[in-house]
Amino acid sequence: MSKLKKYRKIAKKIYQVLPKYQQMTDEELQDQTRIFQEELAGGRTLTQLLPRTFAVAMEADRRVLGLSPYEVQVLGGLALFFGNIAEMKTGEGKTLVATLPMYARAVAGNRGNFLITTNDYLVERDGKEIGAVYEWLGLSVGIGVDVEEDDEKRQLYANDIIYTTHSTLGFHYLFDNLGTELSKQYVKRFNFVIVDEIDSVLLDAAQTSLVISGAPKVQSNYFEISDWFVKSMEDDDYEFSEDKKKVWFTPQGLDKIEEYFDIDDIFSEQYFDQYRHLVLALQANMLKKNGQEYVVEDGKVVLLDEVNGRKMDGVKLNGGLHQAIEAKEEVDVTAETKTLGMISYQSLFHKFKVLSGMTGTAKTDEKEFIQTYNLKVVEIPTNKPSRRIDQPDQVYLTNRAKIDHSLATVQAGMAAKRPVLIETGSVTMSNLYSLVLLENRIPHNLLNASTAPREKLIVSEAGQTDSITLATSMAGRGTDIKLSKEAKENGGLLVVGTERMTSKRIDNQLRGRAGRQGEPGESQFMVSLEDKIVVENGPDRLRKFYEHGQKRVEKGKLDPNNALKQRVAVHAMDNAQKKVGNSELESRKETTGYDAIMSNQREKIYVARNRVLAQDPAYLNALINGALEKVIDNFISDHRKMQLNDITNFVYNNIDTGFAFQRIKDGLNGNFKKKNVRQFLMAAAREALQRSLDRFRSPMQLAYYKKVVILKAIDTCWIDQLDYLQQLKMIVTGRSAAQHKPITEFTLDSRRGFFRMENEAWLAMFRNLILTELDQNKDGSLEMTFP
Ligand code: ADP
Ligand code: MG
Repeated sequence: MSKLKKYRKIAKKIYQVLPKYQQMTDEELQDQTRIFQEELAGGRTLTQLLPRTFAVAMEADRRVLGLSPYEVQVLGGLALFFGNIAEMKTGEGKTLVATLPMYARAVAGNRGNFLITTNDYLVERDGKEIGAVYEWLGLSVGIGVDVEEDDEKRQLYANDIIYTTHSTLGFHYLFDNLGTELSKQYVKRFNFVIVDEIDSVLLDAAQTSLVISGAPKVQSNYFEISDWFVKSMEDDDYEFSEDKKKVWFTPQGLDKIEEYFDIDDIFSEQYFDQYRHLVLALQANMLKKNGQEYVVEDGKVVLLDEVNGRKMDGVKLNGGLHQAIEAKEEVDVTAETKTLGMISYQSLFHKFKVLSGMTGTAKTDEKEFIQTYNLKVVEIPTNKPSRRIDQPDQVYLTNRAKIDHSLATVQAGMAAKRPVLIETGSVTMSNLYSLVLLENRIPHNLLNASTAPREKLIVSEAGQTDSITLATSMAGRGTDIKLSKEAKENGGLLVVGTERMTSKRIDNQLRGRAGRQGEPGESQFMVSLEDKIVVENGPDRLRKFYEHGQKRVEKGKLDPNNALKQRVAVHAMDNAQKKVGNSELESRKETTGYDAIMSNQREKIYVARNRVLAQDPAYLNALINGALEKVIDNFISDHRKMQLNDITNFVYNNIDTGFAFQRIKDGLNGNFKKKNVRQFLMAAAREALQRSLDRFRSPMQLAYYKKVVILKAIDTCWIDQLDYLQQLKMIVTGRSAAQHKPITEFTLDSRRGFFRMENEAWLAMFRNLILTELDQNKDGSLEMTFP
């Protein structure tokens, strides 16, 4: 049975029980929450309560908001309840849909239930409006905007249901795991999440990880020399991937490097850092363009937001790429910072027991949702049949002709007194188009991702008969264009796309702004063979076709103002889009692959940290014993032929700087066999450890000391490992797949790195436990100085 069919059956049951609740008084209806909770305590499951919990939420929606969910909204709610993506077109009322599954799951009182939206404005809008329903039913709601202080966080995450953004949740989670007290971890529960506009969060933002940066690292002086060297290279010293998004050195380029820097094998461990800088310099010089990815202002490199072109002040690329660009632009190279915590949205949302999402556009990318997130897409029918007319694309030879015709389409819309929404693919394009409109004396609102509240104002006016709105693709998602009565009569909103976007999904998102809830509406995309996406991704055949067309125009045999009808031209766009889509999919898959490995290591560390934080004496003592044994065993196995000198060095460095030489000699008594050395060192270490621990009289202080020094060891080593992982990723992606398999190499080396880190952590624990110095402050508090 298809999922939808199954949900229809459940919906039927919901409608059967609904009348009973409709007849209840407010008090009786509100009391249902308590009744459900008792039944749950008695062993019933959430699924068993299903028809009734949904019915109660529906009736509460009606009483509190004055909105009765339509049947399709109930179906959408069920899809979410069962952990799917509900594809529901724009304007179908997804905000309201969320109330049903959210109540039906959060009623369990287990907290950790989230509604994630893409920006703070929507969090506040939906959290307040919709939150009233949950509160009316006796569940608490928190709004996660501007929450920074400990107390605020504690309050927020104590709620049954939380409305917040993906980045707020992610950062709070990372901060939780940097702290030294369990009582200061707030985001502990990951039960149920509904991600609104899930494609935007899980696909469009998939490449960005959340990063918490800490102290600056020691400045490297490789940046300038690497930059200089790369600038001196010739074309065949490096090559680009097909989509031009990657670049790597050719064997010839590598030879040059080895020759110039007098290196025998650039890939060997000892040149890791030098090679990394060369790769960074290559990427900075070949992939990042001034004016496109960044601008230089007052001697600083300022990044530009790829989607809306805004300057992102204070944001830096990580892994050293920012510094490499600084070197390229010959401005002061800033210090690299250490990454203290990092998580991708993929791993963040994988933590939930039940992950679900809603959007108007998911079906086109269903395969990826299934493969990467194990999420199925359930297409929910619209409440009223769609009356939107999607015109076939008009394809022109030149950009000029395309713009002229789009202008004519806009003017026709104006003449018919219809609201018009013009979509452009980039900020540059929207600014350009704005000039064209002004030249033609067409007043319009420009919407290119300023702040969301202003977007809301513009969008709220966008449904009037005389309104012309010019927007970039991503602006204003989640806000509704409401048509005036007259606008509806005149044919509804006309969406004019001046170029097709990088994916069909985003095109659909734009079309979906017209014809909501069965209203009339129309969409028309204009395309030219000079569009960036076509030029960059079209096949050779198309380029020839274009050049041929140009010649015919010159000879006066072809009027460029005629729309093209040839197959190669008409399909140019779909093919280009497919190609971009594939390369984006590949790169997202790659990111997911790297991320899974990092995430695996991060989880191991976080679990260990939490056990240390819990101060379970048995666990702490096991770690302490483990440290003694590992460190001494490692030392012994590292020295095949043990000498007195090695042993004294080890003792002075790690156990006691003042250890009497005579005691070492006597203790060993000339016997350098492993067993004897081990016994001697263990005894010496235990004695020193005991002395160190004896400094604490109260058991509480002692436990605290153990916790802090062990934690310090884990954190220091983990931060170094994180740094290593980022650099490793940079390095493996800096070689072509023909030369090696990047992800395999990453997997192997990152694992090796983890083992190395574990051994370093044991040693750091060992030294911290024994060698940490204590000073009493005037106020009686203790100050620790780590070795
Ligand atoms: P979506 O997120 O699916 O694009 P919204 O949640 O923004 O849609 O809702 C669009 C509009 O439809 C809102 O003004 C909302 O109040 C209205 N709406 C939603 N559900 C209903 C309903 N059952 N009855 C009447 N109006 C509704
Ligand atoms: Mg919405």
